[in-house]
This record gives sequence, C-alpha cells and structure tokens, in this order.
Amino acid sequence: MTNNPLPLKDRMQIQRHTMPAQAPQKRVSNFNEVNQGFSSELAREEAQRCLQCKDAPCSQGCPVHVHIPDFIDQILAGNMLGAADAILQDNLLPAVCGRVCPQEKFCESRCVLGKKGNPVAIGSLERFTADSTAADRAARPQGEKPAPTGKKVALIGSGPSSLACAGDLIRFGHEVTVYEALHAFGGVLIYGIPEFRLPKSIVAYEVDVLRRLGVKFEKNVVIGKTLTINELFDEQGYDAVFIGAGAGLPNFLGIPGEELIGIYSSNELLTRVNLMKAYQDQSVTPIFNFKDKVVAVFGAGNTALDSARTSLRLGAKEVHIIYRRSEEEMPARHEEVEHAKEEGVKFTFLAAPLEFLDNGEGWLKGVRLQRMELGEPDASGRRRPLPIEGSEFTLDLDLTVIAIGNGSNPLLRDTPELQFTRRGTLEVNPESLQTDKAGVFAGGDIVTGGATVISAMGAGRQAAQSINDYLSQL
Ligand code: FAD
Ligand code: SF4
Ligand code: SF4
Repeated sequence: MTNNPLPLKDRMQIQRHTMPAQAPQKRVSNFNEVNQGFSSELAREEAQRCLQCKDAPCSQGCPVHVHIPDFIDQILAGNMLGAADAILQDNLLPAVCGRVCPQEKFCESRCVLGKKGNPVAIGSLERFTADSTAADRAARPQGEKPAPTGKKVALIGSGPSSLACAGDLIRFGHEVTVYEALHAFGGVLIYGIPEFRLPKSIVAYEVDVLRRLGVKFEKNVVIGKTLTINELFDEQGYDAVFIGAGAGLPNFLGIPGEELIGIYSSNELLTRVNLMKAYQDQSVTPIFNFKDKVVAVFGAGNTALDSARTSLRLGAKEVHIIYRRSEEEMPARHEEVEHAKEEGVKFTFLAAPLEFLDNGEGWLKGVRLQRMELGEPDASGRRRPLPIEGSEFTLDLDLTVIAIGNGSNPLLRDTPELQFTRRGTLEVNPESLQTDKAGVFAGGDIVTGGATVISAMGAGRQAAQSINDYLSQL
C-alpha cells in the first residue's frame, strides 16, 4: 500500500516539475541562492509521479542508497519528519545533497521515468524535505546519549567526509574532535561552492546539529604543522584518527605566462569570495576589481562553472569558459551548465591555451589558444583532445581563472608510515579505509582525488564503521 492516490497511468501523465529559480538577469547581480525550492504543492505533485518501484533502481544509483521510494511515500502521507528520517538513515546532509549532488549521474539516472527523459526530481524533493523540516528537526528532543566508550577520535578536516564520519562516531559513544585548518567548518561546502548554489547557513546548521550531539570543533589547527598525527596519539591521547583533508591544492596549466598578474587559481578566487567576502569594500583580503573586465576560466567541472558565475556576479563584462574537449565531456553538473548559459557565460569548446600574453608590465593582456579535435578515448574514458596544426588564435583578456582540478595538500606527506600514490592521494585498504599507519583511517577526496560530496560522505561513514571495529578491539 502506498500513500499515492493516483493510479499508475495518471502518475505517468504528470510532467516533471522544474525548480523555481531567480530570473537570470536578476541573479547575475546578486549572490543569493538561484534555486528557490519547491512549494508544498509542487513537491506533492512531483512526489505523485513516483511509481514506487519495488526494486527501487533509483536507490541503486545513489552512492549511499537513500531509500528514495520510502521518503517520497512519506511526503505523500504528509509525514515530513518521517520523510526526513527515511533520508537521514543513509544521508546526514539532505539539504546539501538535494542541492549539489549530480543527480543526473546518480539517483535520477536510474529512475524508470528517465527512460522517457523525465525522471522524478529526486534531488529537489530531498531538498524540500530537508528544508521544510529544518526547524522541527532542530527543536525535537535529542535521543538518549549512547554510553561513553572512553575512546577518543580526532578527525582532520571538516568537509563532508569528516562530518559524516563524526555523525556516526558520536552515536557509537566515542569522544570526537574535528580539527580544521581554516577559520570556518564545512570544507568545500563552505569555501568552494558559492552561496548562490549552497547558502552557508545550511552548512552552519548541519555543523550545529553535530555540535549538539557532542562533536567538538577546533578551527585554525593545521595538522602536520600546529600538531602532527603522532602528537595527536602521543600527546593528545587520541586512540584513532580519520583523515578527511580533501584535495585542496590547485593544479596549474604549466604554460608560459601563468605567473602574470591577473591570473587566479579557482581555489583562491572562490575562497576569497566565499569565505573572506573579498568583494566587499572593507575586505582585508580584496581581489582585483572584476567590474567590466573580460575573464576567461579554463576547465569544465563544477569549480570552473562556479568561478565563471562568480566572476559574472563580481561585475565582469564578458566571461568565457574555455575547454579542450567538447560539451559532451564536461564533468560539471548539468544544471550548472544550463544556469551558466542562461546567465550569459560564453563557451569555447575544443580549444587549449598555449601561452598567456604580457602587456609589457607584468599584467595579463590575453591568451594564445589552439583549436583541438577529439581522438580515441584516453585513460579517463573520455575522448582525447588532439591539437589541430595551424589553428592558433588569440583572445584579449583582463583576468583569468585556472580551474583544472586539485591535487592533495602535501602537509601530511611527512607523516611516517602514510603511503601516498604518485597522484598524491592517500593509499588505504579499500574495505576498511585504514592507512598503513595503525589507527589512522582516511576517506573522501584525499583518497579518491576530487569527487563528489555524497561519495565523500559515504567514505566517511564507511571509515566510522571501521574505526568503531578497530576501537572495540583495543
Ligand atoms: P573537503 O570538502 O575538501 O574538506 C577538507 C577540509 O580539510 C578542508 O576544510 C580543509 O581546509 C581541511 N584540511 C586540509 N588539510 C588539513 C590539515 N592538514 N589540517 C586540518 N584541516 C585540513 N561535489 C558535488 O557533489 N557537487 C557539486 O556541485 C560540487 N561542486 C564543487 C565545487 C567546487 C568549487 C569544488 C572545489 C568542489 C565541488 N564538489 C562538488 C566536490 C566536493 O565538494 C568534494 O568532493 C567534497 O567536498 C570532498 O569532501 P572531503 O571531506 O573529502 O574534503
Ligand atoms: Fe540522489 Fe544525492 Fe540524494 Fe543520493 S544523496 S538520493 S544521489 S540527491
Ligand atoms: Fe520512483 Fe523513479 Fe525510484 Fe521508481 S525509479 S521508485 S519512479 S523515483
């Protein structure tokens, strides 16, 4: 029995509802969230589209297997807290994931209604469930505290992998402290993904939930500098450590002129804007004035799209995304690409930079590019871009953002016994996520390289289970 009043054939007549959003002309001049969320009516109608498939292929497409038909059915029953609980069993951050998961590659890609191009808007329903229950969830009494185990765990970094790990460890009864190098908690959720996609108040809410459960948060502590991992064990008395330090070291193109003034890494631009409000007049860490400037962003992932759309909001006159492959190979979320197009970002596909051009005084004045064509697939599975001889051309520019991915931060590489791959990611046992150092576990981007919020959270939970097993044998 489901709570859906409609027969199957009627459900299939309903078209997918689009997410209400700020109009493109309006939103390019503010940092407020673009997507406005479903109303109760829209959410109910969208939920009615679900066929309640017994085998739930949508859940199989979700990296943490959220019980999607169950939470949708609870929406239809009008039991919003029940819907939230059905999600929270598997996903601690539904307000975040509903907004930023690449649903078209995960849950929605497996929805049976997707065969006709109209999957249920699972991400939007997850967001609706999280947002509409936020106040009630905060107000409801905490369950009974688990019996303390007397064991202490330190978590390095406060991104989604650590937050998910902390949530489980505290419920197992361990004492949990999260150490964060920056002055704010949330990892990429706070310093990378812009406010117009993920309001920072949502991340702060989730950190507060963990605080109320008893997780301690210490900011401005760089593990590897302020304290080493060995000191965490020997001097601070921790019994286990989880490394969720992410992949925050920007990659560069390695071409002539990259040192010119006016060239940012996406990390620097986004961190200064998101975390330090660098665009405000009184900012102590200002950025160059983007107003009326021509900006090029190199890359085609979420980071590149976020940099391009941030540049527009900083007042840029023209923003170009330049990518050496074609639109089909772009790794960014589909919605971000569509939103960027609506906002006026210009896309140049199949072009790669050869050198940045100097105005004679050390400032960027342009870039020399070369057209590409696609060859056979490379190790990434995507078709390899090949240069076309004699196709060079120049683009005049004022500012550039390099957004071609990140490597792992080298701060922990001096820790004895930790093994790193040639790519700089940390080696772990794939089942237990244990490193070669006893009592040290790791997950998220530091292990996989840049991936997704939900996969980092899945790893955090997997590590929490292994840490609990490890501690129970001490
Ligand atoms: P992170 O989120 O990187 O967090 C690591 C934290 O560790 C950071 O706060 C860092 O300061 C801290 N740290 C590092 N070293 C130390 C140290 N030595 N001591 C103390 N603290 C330390 N994924 C999606 O699913 N959807 C998206 O739309 C999306 N958009 C993105 C946009 C941008 C701009 C970026 C950069 C990434 C995006 N991603 C997106 C990817 C996603 O955010 C990451 O995969 C995810 O955040 C990884 O989580 P994590 O916990 O492994 O690390
Ligand atoms: Fe889909 Fe992400 Fe929610 Fe999983 S966590 S159901 S992938 S939106
Ligand atoms: Fe509902 Fe689609 Fe999942 Fe079927 S596959 S249960 S229709 S969301």
